[in-house]
Amino acid sequence: MNKNRIIRIVLPLLFIAVGAAFLFLYPDTATSGTKCEEQQYYINQGHIFGTYFNIRYEATHDLHNEILAELNRFDNSLSTFNPHSTLSKINSNQSDTTDLLFENMFLTAERISRLSDGAFDITVAPLVNAWGFGFKNKEKVTPNLIDSLLQLVGYEKIRLEDHHLRKSDSRIMLDASAIAKGYGCDVIAELLKKNNSHNYLVDIGGEVSCKGTSSEGSFWRIGIDKPNYDPTGTNHELTAVVSAAKVNIATSGNYRQFYYENGIRRSHTINPHTGYPVEHQLLSATVVAPSCMEADALATACMVLGKDRALEMIEQTVATECMLIYADESGNNQVVTSNGMSKYIVNK
Ligand code: ADP
Ligand code: MG
Repeated sequence: MNKNRIIRIVLPLLFIAVGAAFLFLYPDTATSGTKCEEQQYYINQGHIFGTYFNIRYEATHDLHNEILAELNRFDNSLSTFNPHSTLSKINSNQSDTTDLLFENMFLTAERISRLSDGAFDITVAPLVNAWGFGFKNKEKVTPNLIDSLLQLVGYEKIRLEDHHLRKSDSRIMLDASAIAKGYGCDVIAELLKKNNSHNYLVDIGGEVSCKGTSSEGSFWRIGIDKPNYDPTGTNHELTAVVSAAKVNIATSGNYRQFYYENGIRRSHTINPHTGYPVEHQLLSATVVAPSCMEADALATACMVLGKDRALEMIEQTVATECMLIYADESGNNQVVTSNGMSKYIVNK
């Protein structure tokens, strides 16, 4: 046998033998190495933190159980409805030990409190409870009560120290309702990315984190509601539609959570400086930010600050945009947006 024939016969045989040995050692590569696993769109829905979640994503398999486990972990950390959560135990002084989700929430909350001059403040809980929007029964509100509760409010009165939450007064309580839904969206989005999902929309109680395209092949579309005074939340007329390759968006409004008392409308956004529910012309604030957690907290901060100061804050914050809907002197709804918001807005 000449040298060329040996190469022509032996070499292919050698390749086959090595290939077979490889497949024997690593059988999984026979399928995943040669063929992409098929992806399809899934929808998972349910309830958490007293609100709904609606999650749509493209993946190789249904991630419902993984999503529920993550939402449970979340509930066990930040829910005020769950008496065993880290946050509830801190509020009742049963424990001051924190966990990772709590710490991430806390650090962002602290940053947004500074940025908004204390308009956003998770220590607002005693006031939220007194006004009947929290986790305890409404109290009879008097100026004296507000003054005494204001002593317990202020983000500088709490700090994180080596996985413990230190309060300057044991009566201080925290309320993460204005940031937790947004953070939940980020956490679920992260879970989806880890599972190789590149197209998803995570909606928790109206705060949304989305990326890529829907099953129709175009970017996801998120409607911004007209602020109609409709406590049932069933009336959805749209002011605008937001759509882009990646969006983290949150809306805070005073048009759903409110009640009337002696002819005065009391909304669920409390000004931590005055102790009273905000009363101004701003009806809703929608914020787009690098994370849904920031968008959520900033939207609440905007509602406290009012139109002009809110716009100023958002213009000064990098990669953050807003759409504010307010009532003008004649009571007609008007819209004002930050300079970069138009890149997210598409035709209705
Ligand atoms: P929505 O429920 O419309 O998304 P928000 O994100 O603005 O509204 O959250 C409102 C909730 O946040 C209130 O019900 C209350 O629990 C809490 N909250 C009210 N005022 C403040 C504030 N100034 N800073 C932080 N949280 C607040
Ligand atoms: Mg909010």
